[in-house]
This record gives sequence, C-alpha cells and structure tokens, in this order.
Amino acid sequence: MTDIKSMTLEEVKALMVSLGEKPFRAKQIYEWLHQHFAVSYDEMTNLPKSLREKLEGYPITALEILDVQISKADGTRKYLFRLEDGNTIESVLMKYRHGNSVCISSQAGCRMGCRFCASTIGGLARNLLPSEMLDQIYRIQASVGERVSNVVVMGSGEPLDNYDNLIRFIHLLTEEGGIHISQRNLTVSTCGLVPRMYELADEKFQMTLAVSLHAPNDEKRRELMPVANKYTMEELLRACRYYFEKTGRRITFEYSLVAGVNDTREDALELAGRLKGLNCHVNLIPVNPVRERSFVRSAREAVENFKINLEKCGINGTIRREMGSDIDGACGQLRKRYMEKTESEK
Ligand code: SAH
Repeated sequence: MTDIKSMTLEEVKALMVSLGEKPFRAKQIYEWLHQHFAVSYDEMTNLPKSLREKLEGYPITALEILDVQISKADGTRKYLFRLEDGNTIESVLMKYRHGNSVCISSQAGCRMGCRFCASTIGGLARNLLPSEMLDQIYRIQASVGERVSNVVVMGSGEPLDNYDNLIRFIHLLTEEGGIHISQRNLTVSTCGLVPRMYELADEKFQMTLAVSLHAPNDEKRRELMPVANKYTMEELLRACRYYFEKTGRRITFEYSLVAGVNDTREDALELAGRLKGLNCHVNLIPVNPVRERSFVRSAREAVENFKINLEKCGINGTIRREMGSDIDGACGQLRKRYMEKTESEK
C-alpha cells in the first residue's frame, strides 16, 4: 500500500525500516498526518530533507473543498469534496451544544437502491479509502478551527459494503496517536447487511450501530429498501440482538416517516411489537423530499403520534431535530446537483 494516510502506526514503522530509517520517525510522520492534518511532506519540519524526499513516492491523500454551504438557521455546514480521481462526496458539520459532529460518506454513490434516498440514484462510483473517510473530518476540523468530537458514518454509501476500509478507518480514528475520537462518540449506520453486522459485533467496538429499518414488516420494508429482499426483518433483528450481546451497546433504529406508507398507528404498534425486548432506541425522521422521488413526508402530528404510540408500548423514540433545512436538503443532493451541472457543461 502506498496510501500512507491509511497506514497504521505499526505499518509506518515497518515502512521506515524498509527505507533504512529509524523507527521513531514513524511517530513523527503519523502525528503530522493525523494530529496536525499535514497535506505535504514540506510541512514536516522535524524530518530530515533526505527522508522527506524519499517519502515523495508515498503521496498524501487530501481532499479538496469544492463548495461549502452554511445554514443561516443553525450554522450547519455542508461540504462538497473532490477526490483525487475527480469523484465528489459530501460531508456535513453539525454544531450542537455538546460539541461538533461530522457526518461522513463511506462510498462515492451507493448501490443499495433505497427508494427515498438521493445518494443511490447514480449507483456506486467506488469505495472510499480509509484516508478519504478520515480526511473529511480532518479538512473540516482544519477549516473551522474547532475540534470535532463526534463522527457519524451516515453520509452517502453503505459502510458495511466497504467493510475492510471501514474497520481500518475506525482503528485510525479512535486509537491513540491520531485524532483519537472516542469509540463512544462514533456511530455507524447500516441498511442491514446481516453477515457484516455479525462480523462487526465480533470486533467489539464501543461505538453505536444505527440500523435503517423504516418499516414495521418485511412487506413494507421491501417496498422501500431492496436489501429487505435479501435479509428478512427477523434475520436483521437477530443480528441486532447479537450485536447488543457482544458489545453491550444499545441499537439505534432509524425510521424515516413517509406519509401514508409507514406512519400509521398500526405501523407504530406493529413496530413496537417487533422491537419488544430489544435494548434499542428509535430515531424518527420525517422523510426528506428528494426531487426525483415522489415520497411525501409525514405531517408533524403523525410523527408525534407515532412516537407516542411507540412509547405506550415501552419503546423509546426521539424525533430527530432537523439541521440545515435551508441548505441542500437530503443526503446526496449537493453532490448530485454538482454532477448534473458539470455534466451539462461538457
Ligand atoms: N447506508 C447507510 C448509511 C447512509 S444513509 C444506511 O442505510 O443506514 C443514512 C440514513 O439516512 C439512513 O437511515 C437512510 O435510510 C436515511 N435517508 C436516506 N435518504 C433519506 C431521505 N430522503 N429522508 C430521510 N432519511 C433518509
């Protein structure tokens, strides 16, 4: 691997040895990359020039900021980044009282095909490298000059469809020596790739697993999410129970409310029945309208009633506060607009 920003400290050490350098140089380089967010070897002033020259064969992955939209309502920032091969991805910075949270993409595009999601419309372009996931956070922290304390892998892409890179990313993000974000401040969201959820559970990370459920039964789920044809809800919930047993971490379920599709009282009661006995929390999100799709978000009252009906059955729910509603709405829309624009300019 020549992508030095995706290497662990141990791997950078091995690289130093192979280049005939002292192993302690690895820690210096690692800190420049993952604590000072250096984008070139010239910045690494405590390295001898001869070493810096040798390292030129190991290019440093760095994303270029193409666009930033800042919400007037709440300060949320939406970033459009350009990858080295010209692909584009989006990330979002949300400012909360308890700290700064960054939502990152795990793939350029997505191949899961969820009907209400803008990220999947053009299909999957490619997986992101661990360094490209990290650099979304690094560039944002460097550009605002404030520490990022929470990371959610909930942008474009299905993280468990890019499994090996995701695992490496989590190690680099949370271990000492780098940006060192606590695993407890990390959330990874999946549409429910069941076999990968078992593997992830066995890693025993102390992070939160969010599972996009969006329906109370298989029939309705299949209408919204093609992945539901592959794994039944029963198989999915079994994997969730396993995840909790292995990690002790409560599962978060994501439930986007679509008017007339999954937001009735019967839906809430059926969902509560399915989730009974599972240590979990349900995040209720009125679906974000996507231009290319005809889904309509549930009315405020329907959302509130849904929550009340869940709670009557002993299932906790939170209505997610909307952030940045005045800047390019749903996930994947900024990227999509940019791609359409560049396409029409060709
Ligand atoms: N692939 C992962 C993570 C990315 S999507 C997953 O499916 O969980 C992050 C969350 O946003 C998911 O819960 C997804 O279903 C939801 N989402 C996508 N488009 C949306 C929209 N238009 N409105 C509301 N939620 C949406």
